[in-house]
Amino acid sequence: MFLVQTEKDLLQAFRPRDREKVELPEGLKFPLFVRDYFTWVEPAGTRVFLLMPSPGGGKRPMGIAFRRDSPGGGVASHMCDWCHGYGPTNEIGMLTTDVNSKRRVGVNLCLDLRCKERLESVADLSGRHPRELLQPLMERMLRFAREALKIEAVPEE
Ligand SMILES: [Zn+2]
Repeated sequence: MFLVQTEKDLLQAFRPRDREKVELPEGLKFPLFVRDYFTWVEPAGTRVFLLMPSPGGGKRPMGIAFRRDSPGGGVASHMCDWCHGYGPTNEIGMLTTDVNSKRRVGVNLCLDLRCKERLESVADLSGRHPRELLQPLMERMLRFAREALKIEAVPEE
């Protein structure tokens, strides 16, 4: 759980290389109270933004700007690496983000990052507590930030 006080705080959660690409959702109100993570898709649909707790456990959330690679087509079903849900190419596919100026990483995810909602409906249907399913999801997100992006903590500015 975290609280984003201002638009400036939200932007600062993103790495400088991502910050200029961030387009805030319309009508976003501050302070913004985030229970697990917060995600939105830019109107053009090319970028998906994710705001989640800092991997280092700091007070500041961290943001990642993902780019959707054009769907490969086909009818194959894909699995999301984070929520382990299955879906067609237009729902689950490759999202990429910069590691640094020379390298990008890609991960197969729900294209709208609505993993949480998927898991909540899975929990509903199976009679399990949503927390049971959300915990591993949050751990996978944090692991991605630490291992793929090498982000340990969001620097205080
Ligand atoms: Zn997912």
